[in-house]
Amino acid sequence: MEIDSIARDAVTGLWEMRPFANRVSELMDAHNGQLIAGLLVVEIERMHQLFRVHGQGSLDQAMSMLVRRLLPICGPDDLICRFAQTQFAIFLPGLDHAGKALFAASAIANSMGETISIEGQQIHVSAKIGVAVSPADATDGPSLIRNACIALEQALSSGTASYLHFTRSMRSELKEKLDLEDALRAAIREDQLTVHYQPKVAIQDGTPVGGEALLRWTHPDRGMIPPNVFIPTAEETGLIVPIGEWVLRKAINQIREWLDEGLPPIQIAVNVSERQFRWGHLPALIDVLLAESRIPPHLLQLEITETILPDDLEGALQQMRWIADRGVALALDDFGTGYSSLSYLRELPLDCLKVDRQFVSDMERDQSTRHIVEAIVAMAQAMDLKVVAEGIETPAQWDILRRLGVEEGQGYLFARPMPAEAFAAFVRHAGAEG
Ligand code: C2E
Ligand code: MG
Ligand code: MG
Repeated sequence: MEIDSIARDAVTGLWEMRPFANRVSELMDAHNGQLIAGLLVVEIERMHQLFRVHGQGSLDQAMSMLVRRLLPICGPDDLICRFAQTQFAIFLPGLDHAGKALFAASAIANSMGETISIEGQQIHVSAKIGVAVSPADATDGPSLIRNACIALEQALSSGTASYLHFTRSMRSELKEKLDLEDALRAAIREDQLTVHYQPKVAIQDGTPVGGEALLRWTHPDRGMIPPNVFIPTAEETGLIVPIGEWVLRKAINQIREWLDEGLPPIQIAVNVSERQFRWGHLPALIDVLLAESRIPPHLLQLEITETILPDDLEGALQQMRWIADRGVALALDDFGTGYSSLSYLRELPLDCLKVDRQFVSDMERDQSTRHIVEAIVAMAQAMDLKVVAEGIETPAQWDILRRLGVEEGQGYLFARPMPAEAFAAFVRHAGAEG
């Protein structure tokens, strides 16, 4: 294709985005939207790290090297563009059937997935590709490009697929996610978040020994949105960092308030996400909050899940040790559902294992589940860890757990999560009775 020099990316010699998009539109319009064509948007992964470590020059060098792999796969009529710093877009206008766009995507993904040598260092690159075809997915240029971008977004969050073909449900899912993200930002601004507290009790006699802080979101139109719906979005977008800070502050201030009101000292657990460890400032934040509130550190417990661990074990461990050294307690939440690698269990400065609700609910019917819980209790005792059972709903479950030697329990049988005032009343009432 003839293009003048102004339209080219100075580094790779490829089309720039705007003239590329115009040309795609022209070609599609010339065929009244009936051109059989494919559009691929290719994101080269790990380029941002390369940029941070080696700078713009190395990033450009890498992208130029990858263009040389791309060119032999593309035909003479195909348009290739540097779509963004770390992205290419390819328009395939001369297809005899649209499925060929997926063959091309597969070939490109394979060709990109090899190491390149930058400044004497071997760097492993890989590509994620979003594919949209005309006329099935779109009949005009801007929609075709947009839909390929949506497919790329899905491929990037899928973790496994190296390329994905656009579907209409991707667009509605993405829209839902964006809407939820917007609403969540508004929720932070407009004070729609609150914290409820669910009592934890001694399994022997059911007296309250602690509580878990659980985030609640009351949306002005949609009502109560459960954490399982919005926490994943908050984690993906990074909003969990400010939200997690807010929950910690709220819970710690609440502990202070209860102490000042003369409520018996009670340990409160706060859930923290992997993303808060990746942020890197959690120990410093906890130091500040402990100093401000002057609460005894052991009245705070952090609940972490096993998903924290595989990604950056060393970084997370260091932070956990720091936090544990301050006297803050650490619990491993949802125990038994994740990797449960026993070797890292030894490394973690834990005080407590929380047996996942699934085990508790299966236990009554299923003897082997009972044996698993029994084994968890034996292991925890050997490691000097307390065992808490989550999600106790029936007297029969309570009875089994008591006989197995579990120390603490939490569940609807004893109390549901409730606002702070109700929690304090629950604790006071139990104290008056006992
Ligand atoms: P989780 O930490 O395992 O919390 C226990 C969940 O089980 C809570 O759900 C609680 O309401 C529910 N539950 C307690 N007892 C029973 C029972 O007897 N039966 C049943 N069916 N459920 C019971 P919730 O409040 O919906 O929270 C869900 C998850 O959201 C939590 O699971 C936690 O992973 C996450 N989450 C909640 N608040 C926060 C937060 O502030 N930060 C972070 N990072 N995650 C949070
Ligand atoms: Mg929890
Ligand atoms: Mg749990």
